[in-house]
Amino acid sequence: MIDKNYILDVLNKASMPTHDEIERVLKKSENREKLSHIEIAMLLNASEDGQVQKIYNIAGKIKEEIYGSRVVIFAPLYISNFCVNNCTYCGYRRDNIFSRKKLNTEEIKKQAINLEKLGHKRIALEVGEAPVETPIEYVVDSIKTIYNNSSIRRINVNIAATTVEEYKLLHEVGIGTYILFQETYDRERFETVHPKSLKGDYDYHLHAFDRAFEAGIDDVGAGVLFGLADYKFEVLSLIIHNEYLEEKYGVGFHTISVPRLKKADGMKLEDYPHIIDDEQFKRVVTVLRLAVPYVGLILSTRETKDIREELIKHGVSQISAGSKTDVGGYHEEVLEDEHDQFELSDERSVMEVNMDLIAKGFIPSYCTACYRKGRTGDRFMSLAKNGTIGLICEPNALMTLTEYIMDYGDSSFKESGVQFVLEHAEKIKNQKIKDKLIENINRIINGERDLFF
Ligand code: SAM
Ligand code: SF4
Repeated sequence: MIDKNYILDVLNKASMPTHDEIERVLKKSENREKLSHIEIAMLLNASEDGQVQKIYNIAGKIKEEIYGSRVVIFAPLYISNFCVNNCTYCGYRRDNIFSRKKLNTEEIKKQAINLEKLGHKRIALEVGEAPVETPIEYVVDSIKTIYNNSSIRRINVNIAATTVEEYKLLHEVGIGTYILFQETYDRERFETVHPKSLKGDYDYHLHAFDRAFEAGIDDVGAGVLFGLADYKFEVLSLIIHNEYLEEKYGVGFHTISVPRLKKADGMKLEDYPHIIDDEQFKRVVTVLRLAVPYVGLILSTRETKDIREELIKHGVSQISAGSKTDVGGYHEEVLEDEHDQFELSDERSVMEVNMDLIAKGFIPSYCTACYRKGRTGDRFMSLAKNGTIGLICEPNALMTLTEYIMDYGDSSFKESGVQFVLEHAEKIKNQKIKDKLIENINRIINGERDLFF
């Protein structure tokens, strides 16, 4: 599926696009036409300031059209840092000596309750790869513990590439998205950064989603760890991987994550010559928005508040908030033996993130309705592509935000937040939906819960 020579050839042919060529591609994007690989590569190589700005503007328009002002909020939950792999970039790799931890059922319950206290409804479960310490049964039991003991409504799962049989178990327990980052699509680079590791089998890793689909999972999230190899090569590879899945299974990525390499224990950023700067990073996100308008884009707290807010305007649709990347990180007391996977750049609390988003006119969303109503895979994509999903999402976002404000806000936030929600509700054009929404918002304000999403 990933033909390195082909991709290098595309990048080479598009290396010096003319002004007119870029204008033509921008026009196509404005008309929401699908872009070819060469055209995507041209956008990655555009160098005139005015044209770069146009890429940002069109990405912003697409974001607004498909996702409105909504931004989905979630948090990662690390339950174990045991790992048999030696990914050179990761603080949890095998060669790093520290006392490893995995949470037991009671501790997982406590984490879920603490996440709930922060207002979270959606989490990404993160586990190192350790077949003996944390076999699939451990992961499945952890998921059950969280669903059964908290109001977490959707658990996305980020675990190592595995077999069809194990993916079936994940599917049966009702996960949201199965997330797996390819890290890098460059085979040689992949093998270099995953020395003597289970994870080092490029083809097995690359075809993990095929096995997940075979097991019945129809909701997968991809990603690249930007900084490991040439970012333009990675963007084209992501697009090609997505097209491959769409063609073969009728559904591609639900989301793409765009983590950038951060400092971690046992590695030096200087050893990674492909680190990308902010401008390159913004180009990655905006070009992805143009190339795959319906794929959710996820930004984590590896990025700063400023970049996150800027990129929410230009394409990002989901962000994590109040994240901890150490095992059992959600607790009130300060612990001595914390060991993070990598450094974070946005350490604001969930409440601060939400208040800042609202101040900028964004709608933090805690909606998990699609998952709960079985709108996944191709059912979700067809609603997204014909625009109906927007009619459902905006009211759901506003209702879940009201729930958050009423359950977690202080009196002043309750007042300003409810006003914000009602102002947005008033703007909804369909009178029937608007009336129903305002009625529901009032029911939530009056204490009714968990009725609509
Ligand atoms: N262990 C599983 C795996 O590797 O697929 C899943 C969870 S791992 C904890 C989540 C992701 O963290 C990895 O896929 C990798 O992209 C990212 N990561 C690891 N080291 C990082 C670093 N130094 N900076 C930023 N992201 C990093
Ligand atoms: Fe283990 Fe995942 Fe870190 Fe690699 S990235 S060392 S597999 S936790």
